Amino acid sequence: MTTNLLNYDAKALVDFCIEMGEKPFRAKQLLRWIHQFGKVDFVEMSDLAKGLREKLSTLAVIEPPQIVSDHTAKDGTRKWLLSVGAGNSIETVFIPEANRGTLCVSSQVGCALACTFCSTGKQGFNRNLTVAEIIGQLLLANNALKKTDANDLTTQSSRAVTNVVMMGMGEPLANFENVVTALDLMLDDHAYGLSRRRVTLSTSGLIPAMDRLRERCPVALAVSLHAPNDALRDQLVPINQKYPIKQLLAACQRYLQAAPRDFITFEYVMLDGVNDSVTHARELVKLVKDTPCKFNLIPFNVFAGSGYKRSSPESVRIFRDVLMQAGLVTTVRKTRGDDIAAACGQLAGLVKDKTRRTMRKTMEAVK
Ligand code: SAH
Ligand code: SF4
Repeated sequence: MTTNLLNYDAKALVDFCIEMGEKPFRAKQLLRWIHQFGKVDFVEMSDLAKGLREKLSTLAVIEPPQIVSDHTAKDGTRKWLLSVGAGNSIETVFIPEANRGTLCVSSQVGCALACTFCSTGKQGFNRNLTVAEIIGQLLLANNALKKTDANDLTTQSSRAVTNVVMMGMGEPLANFENVVTALDLMLDDHAYGLSRRRVTLSTSGLIPAMDRLRERCPVALAVSLHAPNDALRDQLVPINQKYPIKQLLAACQRYLQAAPRDFITFEYVMLDGVNDSVTHARELVKLVKDTPCKFNLIPFNVFAGSGYKRSSPESVRIFRDVLMQAGLVTTVRKTRGDDIAAACGQLAGLVKDKTRRTMRKTMEAVK
């Protein structure tokens, strides 16, 4: 089988070059051509000798996922549906803002963790994405944005990616090795050269993997809290039954020792009548009193069959005020790309095998 060089980090590319009988510095050139310039054809790599380009073409490919569709919302949010083979597809979303462009990247096809308010979770788990499929999202987005730029210099939405959030489909820490290799590439100066502060990983709270991430590649961390006590979190985020809140907060404290920011971002989806009362807000304030953190309240994004309703703007405001008055920095996430279903938790892609894992199997799958 031909090697897909998109699966390789800097070190693996060096090994590959040595195996080919080439000098190790060729790896740096390859890394730049692929990730900085977005080239997927060896022919275009003009500072490589013709013989080497030919050799590469016989041994390897550079193969990101196939773009199935590409939609831009009224607010400039852009969503790509990418095919990853066997009838499966994933979604990637670009969110342009005045001073940055954020790409929301997927890590799995479906998700085993079955949070009750999440459309990806409702699909069940299909498989982990490869490194090529994860980093390929960044490569494709940058290429597409560059193209838009060339065609239309007036559009605001055409800037390249400056920030990455691992907040697309899937639980990134349940696909640890591939996600960390992709993160390494995002940070590598010869690849995407993003700083650790500009790359945020969001997790539902897989504690052992949070500890491993702290050691291997401590990027900024967001934790999906969604409830102020175990009874409620057990229902909304079932993995809480295995990794309850107290242990989760202790893991956040440990993470902060290596984190590029001096706070953890807690995400909190606002579900009408479920977790959005003043009592919940007060309980939350007590809960996190010893954890340096910021809150990001996410208005629930409705999808067919979810069974939940979005909290009213009034409840969200009151909830935010309780947190703010207690000195917690709190933002309310703007809902972007609503008209193309590109908002948090609406990413669904297409999953061929919709078999739902049982909770027992899910727990086994997530060590
Ligand atoms: N699996 C990871 C990252 C992907 S989800 C995690 O759970 O953290 C990114 C964020 O969107 C999470 O905070 C998730 O809880 C939230 N989310 C999921 N479904 C949502 C929905 N329907 N409306 C709003 N936010 C949602
Ligand atoms: Fe998975 Fe995150 Fe959705 Fe939960 S919220 S089901 S962990 S993608």
